[in-house]
Amino acid sequence: MIARVIVDIRNGDVDKIFDYIVPDGMDLHAGDRVLVPFGKRDTEGYCIAISDDSQVAASRLKPVKTRLDPFTCVNPDMLALMDFMRRKFYLRYADCLRLFVPPQMRGGKVGELKRLYVELVPGSDEKIADIPTRAKRRLELVARLKRGGDYLSVLAEEFGAATVNALVDAGIAVKTERAVYRKPYAEMQEGAKRVTPTDDQKRAVESIFATDKTVSLLFGVTGSGKTEVYMEAIERTLAEGKKAIMLVPEISLTPQTLRNFRARFGEKVALMHSGLGVGERYDEWKRALTGEADIVIGARSAVFAPLDNVGLIVLDEEHDGSYVSESNPRYDTAEVAEFRVRQTGGKLVLGSATPSIDSFEAAQEGRYNLIVMDRRISGRGMPPIEIVDMSKELLAGNADIFSRRLMQEMDGALSRGEQVMLFLNRRGHSSFAMCRNCGYVPKCENCDVALSYHSVEKALVCHYCGARYKMITRCPKCGSDNIKMGKIGTQRVVSELQKMHPGTKILRLDAESTTTKDAYLDILGAFKAREAQILVGTQMIAKGHDFPDVTLVGILDADLGLYHSDFRSAERTFQLVTQVAGRAGRADKEGKVLLQTFSPSHYVYRFASHYDYPGFFAKENNTRKVTGFPPYSTIVRVLFSSEIEEKAIACTKSVYLGLKAYAAEHRDDFFVLRAMVAPVAKIERHYRYQIVMRVTKQSEDAVFGCIHKLLDEYRTRGVSVFAQLDPQNMM
Ligand code: ADP
Ligand code: ZN
Ligand code: ZN
Repeated sequence: MIARVIVDIRNGDVDKIFDYIVPDGMDLHAGDRVLVPFGKRDTEGYCIAISDDSQVAASRLKPVKTRLDPFTCVNPDMLALMDFMRRKFYLRYADCLRLFVPPQMRGGKVGELKRLYVELVPGSDEKIADIPTRAKRRLELVARLKRGGDYLSVLAEEFGAATVNALVDAGIAVKTERAVYRKPYAEMQEGAKRVTPTDDQKRAVESIFATDKTVSLLFGVTGSGKTEVYMEAIERTLAEGKKAIMLVPEISLTPQTLRNFRARFGEKVALMHSGLGVGERYDEWKRALTGEADIVIGARSAVFAPLDNVGLIVLDEEHDGSYVSESNPRYDTAEVAEFRVRQTGGKLVLGSATPSIDSFEAAQEGRYNLIVMDRRISGRGMPPIEIVDMSKELLAGNADIFSRRLMQEMDGALSRGEQVMLFLNRRGHSSFAMCRNCGYVPKCENCDVALSYHSVEKALVCHYCGARYKMITRCPKCGSDNIKMGKIGTQRVVSELQKMHPGTKILRLDAESTTTKDAYLDILGAFKAREAQILVGTQMIAKGHDFPDVTLVGILDADLGLYHSDFRSAERTFQLVTQVAGRAGRADKEGKVLLQTFSPSHYVYRFASHYDYPGFFAKENNTRKVTGFPPYSTIVRVLFSSEIEEKAIACTKSVYLGLKAYAAEHRDDFFVLRAMVAPVAKIERHYRYQIVMRVTKQSEDAVFGCIHKLLDEYRTRGVSVFAQLDPQNMM
């Protein structure tokens, strides 16, 4: 018997299957991890198939050394998924397998699966009394252990391994091996009470299973009770003996969902996301693999949960950009999910209050089953959105961050003891130029997207075709020379607020102020507990949290998202405004939203302020059709990066010329094909070049095939290459 093995090595150039002999008596299956001789060393690998014969002469084959685990890591469905992802996303075997198996499994760390647990030795009070008072760390550790033991790894991180060992050596504490599953966020299970589904919810669940379509798009306004629909559908799936995956954009930011699921499904739920500790991650993965858990809930990587017979996958907030992995390995969660459920005859549910244009178009075309829930459970309407024209503020002599309307409303809310959220847009890293007088923004003549200002060259650049324009100093529309770039920071907003409202407590939440999920939850917790009146933050505060006392939401710089150099900027801004508005007036108090803009008549704001998604969709979809952007085309981007610039250029050039020759024979398939420096020209000492093309939907697979062939031919050592379909964020 021959084992076909993928060797798990870092070298990006090796993506081959190697054959090994399966020694007599070794019980080896496809999907098992193995140890095999490779070059001079033994290396870990994955057996992806067992076959009867090999192309290689038997005399040259070496035997598999060991089967590493007593169980199969990668089930047959996942092996099929690996093949799909290789083709679809141009990934290497090893890249896919790394997504499927938690990091702790690799590198021979499996022996540590039993973890060392540290606790106090009973009756060691005398020895504790002997600890000198200057040994602060040791005393702190003792105090901690008196409240209960913990894992060595946790304690060592907190107190230092030397401190732990000192207590063990003194006979005060003892280390024992424990193989227990720890439950992430164990505190989150109480609360959530069962509700009786409404007719809308029942109808939605029926529709998911009654349709002959694999994918359902659940278009339900904020507060329409989508979570209950997901849970009912999952319950039904489990009742049929199948399993389910529930995906949310950022699990650590939505503890509410987890709480609901724990309350309803208890131990059957496993949680998978990258914020967990390595040990926790392994435990949850293992519970899913062994069938102990049959629901996996998590952020995008949970789509690779090692479940068999997946009958249902849910993507909540399906429009969220985080479902597309933009760094290696790159993949699109929705496509992976659809492939998985198609294999098993299951269902995929995409849920959103503001579906992506692509998904809604797919529903209009009839590729997806459309389910609409347009009533809120509470029976209330959405809070009114008032548009504030910031150029009028300028004319009136107010060049501040805050409009007079906003200041007035803030004063009112604060004096009534209510809370205020102020929202700053942060998307991407590039800035655009804008006339502060009339709101004019320079756009690319070829692509109709806002140009990005590159400060180094002092030029305006289009990220889709590479066209360069001179920076404008005078507005071509109104003649004003009040052209501005750049963004306002949360810090500045806070300090200005503090000046205006000296006695008011203000909290700030952005990527810089919160590096850990705990810090994030702490700040939100403090705000919810009314320890502050104002919360200033970036889109991080837009996610689904309930703050019953927030009655005013201010969007300070809505335009920043609107003119981000991205054809999806209108869509993203619409989504954001709707989501942020959902934070105002959640409970029994009336809420209000003030949206500050220099382009008050822009269609995005017109539709968003009326919560008119269908109207927005019709307009935006038509624009895409006319300009030939997705869903009416596919954007393909091939990114080359290398520490040696010449290498990156040479490789880009060869592939570009090959593609040009191909395009000459398939003229009708291509709208655009360009090679250029990547928007971010250098990251971590790597020079970056890209080929960007826009092709017809029908030709997508053929073009991708051609790219793969060219890459196989021209890819050189020292250059890493990624090919992406419809990149979310071109940097
Ligand atoms: P969405 O995700 O669509 O914005 P949620 O799922 O968060 O909405 O539901 C909004 C609120 O309505 C939640 O507080 C939820 O507990 C409540 N809810 C949902 N379904 C019901 C129901 N059938 N009966 C009573 N309350 C419900
Ligand atoms: Zn102007
Ligand atoms: Zn352009």
